[in-house]
Amino acid sequence: MRVRVAINGFGTIGKRVADAVVKQPDMELVGVAKTRPSYEARRAVEKGYPLYVTGQGDPEAFRAAGLPTAGSVHDLIGKVDIVVDAAPDKVGRENRKLYDHAGVRAIFQGGEKSDVAEASFSALANYGTCLGKRTLRVVSCNTTGIARAASVLRAGWGVDHWEVTLVRRAADPAETKKGPINGILPTFQLPSHHGPDVQTIFPDLHIATSAVVVPTTLMHVHVNHVRLTRAPRDAAEVIGKFRAAPRFRVFAPWEHVDGTPQVMEYARDRGLGFNDMMENVLWEEGLRLDGRDVYFFQAIHQESIVVPESIDAIRASLALESEGSASIAKTDRALGLTRA
Ligand code: NAD
Repeated sequence: MRVRVAINGFGTIGKRVADAVVKQPDMELVGVAKTRPSYEARRAVEKGYPLYVTGQGDPEAFRAAGLPTAGSVHDLIGKVDIVVDAAPDKVGRENRKLYDHAGVRAIFQGGEKSDVAEASFSALANYGTCLGKRTLRVVSCNTTGIARAASVLRAGWGVDHWEVTLVRRAADPAETKKGPINGILPTFQLPSHHGPDVQTIFPDLHIATSAVVVPTTLMHVHVNHVRLTRAPRDAAEVIGKFRAAPRFRVFAPWEHVDGTPQVMEYARDRGLGFNDMMENVLWEEGLRLDGRDVYFFQAIHQESIVVPESIDAIRASLALESEGSASIAKTDRALGLTRA
């Protein structure tokens, strides 16, 4: 028996989660919901995904564009076990009323405040405590990246304190109305919202975050300084732990990956769906150990890092796997993610 899944909101995240659902052996994509016709709606039809009209969308506009629809979002959510909401920031909270009314489980994204759902979710960190919850919120791209790394470092040596500066991409590649196109914008909220968001996963983690926005669309980069509780033997031991963990890609010096352009070129060479890079990206040369202090860079592909976590959140909510490690392995096998 495969569980029936709907995607409400078919943009950057929704279209990726839809493809990821289709690849899972235990899930069936019943349909995707869009507000208006677009090249993405057209792709949904070309892929054979039943298309439903959501939000303020007008079925006539889809008809005029020659895109067949199967009904409204209400029809869609009446047919499924769970909805993944991938609507724009804060719209998920409005959509929650629909899900509650229909009595359907829902997975929200990181653009919603944490109280939109019963728990914030990160597969490596807290799959077990999220088991069976009717509503979950997959934390944002940056928070997912930090939570994954925190899971590895806490399990290995404990974490006393973490400081991170996030160098944030200005916009996703298709977002032409956002900026800056020239400039570096400090985020004057200190700490930035990322630290408190990580604490929705690890309430006891001492973390201080700050952020700047820079003119790039490729990836975010985190500059981390972590004081561990116990000193690792050497840097190689820390790198080894990251390499052994799921959803990390550690580049070696001989790979000549200078920064995010080569990371995304590697992703294009690898050619997973959308040429995505769903792993946290670290560099061997970019990790230094000084006693209990570990310094490292990590790059986060904002468009795709939350995709595997969204799949695991479906499994956690419906208790399809009792162990996070089993869900992660299943998801990653289906998505073609290998360890390195
Ligand atoms: P997006 O703008 O690319 O896509 C959102 C889609 O939802 C669009 O197709 C839009 O037409 C549709 N929509 C509008 N109103 C709707 C409604 N009432 N109901 C359903 N759908 C509606 O946005 P996105 O980047 O995919 O972001 C979706 C969520 O994922 C947000 O919470 C965001 O914070 C989070 N997120 C985004 C990124 C990222 O970098 N893009 C990374 C991680 C998490």
